Amino acid sequence: MLDCIKNTNCYKSLRLTDNHAYLFYSLDSFLNKEIALTRAGEILCENGSFCGKCPACLQFKSLSHPDLTIIEQDSIKVEDISKIVNLISTKPVQSKTRVLIIFNADVINETAQNKLLKSLEEPNDSTVFIFTTNKISKLLPTILSRLNKVFVSSISLSDKKLISNELKKENINIEPVLNQDFNLTESINLVTNNDYSNTLNQVFNLLENLNTTADISSVVSSLEIKDKSLFFSCLMDIFLDILTPKKFDKNKILTLKLKYNDKAVIKILPHIDEAYKYVNANVNFTYVLDNLLFKILQEKFLCK
Ligand SMILES: [Zn+2]
Repeated sequence: MLDCIKNTNCYKSLRLTDNHAYLFYSLDSFLNKEIALTRAGEILCENGSFCGKCPACLQFKSLSHPDLTIIEQDSIKVEDISKIVNLISTKPVQSKTRVLIIFNADVINETAQNKLLKSLEEPNDSTVFIFTTNKISKLLPTILSRLNKVFVSSISLSDKKLISNELKKENINIEPVLNQDFNLTESINLVTNNDYSNTLNQVFNLLENLNTTADISSVVSSLEIKDKSLFFSCLMDIFLDILTPKKFDKNKILTLKLKYNDKAVIKILPHIDEAYKYVNANVNFTYVLDNLLFKILQEKFLCK
């Protein structure tokens, strides 16, 4: 996969230069990760190009390079950062530089971020940090100011095709959704992650069955939502697709387009955003959703 990423226009256009700390960010967490790994491969390669052939590249590909550390956890606390600080106080084993990757750095809690800050403020020549995130706002401004922030802009169809061919080798076939407006993470989730397609279907059903305020309690009680943030992003995506259909099943979207005109949708989008913020602030999900659906219906009727 990494040889493939290296050859994408998306990667080439980043024109990365030497730095002691990178942050790759975009909404596409799969792409962020692959780009982070590709950069790490370039740094550790004995030929400096991620040649794929030198001993370091071979070790890297099997993720057994002694100077590569990858951290991917649901949460990162001060104790985890202490381990990192200890690690980087030692010399790399094999290469000139050690590479430390933290995927989804937004899971580092605030105290831990403050602890990490010291290491970023006083970089040592032998460590390169690489972070990724799809929620850049969760990182402290002080941390952000120390990183070389690289925004990974959306990927072209030709790049997607290259990556799709690689994914096929891993038995992941995203070809059916390639021409639609899904990013790579969404495409992969659609074909491999039941939660995603399940949530998406539930949101479609909800919108199809929601006609008057009398329907609110029944549609809400029929929901089985595991991931609330995924629920809101599906809801947001569907309404965006009503405005410019390019992502989802055309027939389903056209049915919704008859119910919700563009004017109503434009008024509805900020309500979804607001509801998501309330749920993130731990306001009761059912309560927030009841209110949101009421507002959606209200906008729908007012914009007739
Ligand atoms: Zn190499």
